[in-house]
Amino acid sequence: MSINLELPEKLNSTVERARLAAEHIFRPISRKYDKAEHEYPVELDELGKIAKQARGGDKASDKASGEDTVNGANLRSVLNARELSWGDVGLMLSIPYQGLGNAAIAAVANEEQLERFADVWAAMAITEPGFGSDSAAVSTTAVLDGDDYVINGEKIFVTAGSRADHVVVWATLDKSVGRAAIKSFVVPMSTEGVSVARLEHKLGIKSSDTAVVRFENARVPADNLLGTPEINVKKGFGGVMQTFDNTRPVVAAMAVGLGRAALEELRRMLEEAGHEIDYDRPVAAQHAAVAEFIRLESDWEASWMLTLRAAWMADNKQPNSTEASMSKAKAGRTVTDLTNKAVEIGATAGFSETQMLEKWARDSKILDIFEGTQQIQQLIIARRILGKSSADLR
Ligand SMILES: Cc1cc2nc3c(=O)[nH]c(=O)nc-3n(C[C@H](O)[C@H](O)[C@H](O)COP(=O)(O)OP(=O)(O)OC[C@H]3O[C@@H](n4cnc5c(N)ncnc54)[C@H](O)[C@@H]3O)c2cc1C
Repeated sequence: MSINLELPEKLNSTVERARLAAEHIFRPISRKYDKAEHEYPVELDELGKIAKQARGGDKASDKASGEDTVNGANLRSVLNARELSWGDVGLMLSIPYQGLGNAAIAAVANEEQLERFADVWAAMAITEPGFGSDSAAVSTTAVLDGDDYVINGEKIFVTAGSRADHVVVWATLDKSVGRAAIKSFVVPMSTEGVSVARLEHKLGIKSSDTAVVRFENARVPADNLLGTPEINVKKGFGGVMQTFDNTRPVVAAMAVGLGRAALEELRRMLEEAGHEIDYDRPVAAQHAAVAEFIRLESDWEASWMLTLRAAWMADNKQPNSTEASMSKAKAGRTVTDLTNKAVEIGATAGFSETQMLEKWARDSKILDIFEGTQQIQQLIIARRILGKSSADLR
């Protein structure tokens, strides 16, 4: 199978728009909101409006060019995430109307729901006090009562949980049936019984709010359930897990964007110190720091290739769970390695708050944790390659 890596022309404007926002809006306020944890970056309001309009504009231009509006959506998302995360990962996660829940809606909603939820800003709530990696352990419940589902439970570490106007919640219809009964629900944050209990203090991405969200007899219309209410034990977890096929490449792209920022800074420092990066000479014949740079850059390139492949496959309706995990595993590990090496090589400049390297090293770690940790991605890849079930290999 060959893949054309040339980007479709229609995506140039997405890249350019995101690049400009990263450079002119994010970078100038990046340190400010690293210091002002929990303060909403008001500068993002305008960007949210533009993002909303752009979403409509992108759809219209796809339609005008006779293309399927869904085709290209994943590629567009990864390019957008890569460019914006070059500016600031936490701010990227705070842009109104671009929540992780929006990606979940795009992945599993039916046509009518896509239309109805087109303009929402949705956070994603899977994690609970009782579990993180083991998403089959969902204990939040959704009980059908007349035309509504009544939701009860507590979700933790919800990105944009205090700012988004909606949240996509994973809840079980029947705990005794296991993972097949886990469904996702779009819940307006204004619903009676939904409350934000607290915000977390974190190592990095401090400009992004991370909330505990409680659901106490929260009622939503039955047709806010994404996908089918049918509990298909044979299909198991398939429905809700499909979300990750779309969101993992986006997180990988965020890692690639942040990685590029650190590589650019490292290159500048090496060149300023008089070390030329020469791709035509054997690595062993160059300065040790240059050799390290070339190794990091090749890992970073590989991360981007894997990310492109996973997004391209999703756009072309090919099953991509393995590739989505591969992109996330490689990019998450690479960006953590890369940003920490940049601090190491930069030494005083790397560790000082006068530069951004120390912040990027702190911000990078989350990209190897949320949407499935490094170890969980490796587990998924191993299962797929070896043909093992989750019961065989855990
Ligand atoms: C800043 C931030 C934002 C977040 N945003 C969201 C969000 O928007 N929505 C949401 O639902 N969640 C969110 N999360 C939660 C995140 O997805 C979880 O932290 C993650 O899934 C890991 O779960 P855990 O923290 O409970 O770790 P655990 O699952 O307890 O894992 C602890 C360690 O054990 C390892 N481990 C676990 N199981 C295995 C295994 N079988 N084999 C080998 N190693 C294993 C893990 O890799 C990890 O290193 C966020 C977390 C953070 C920190």
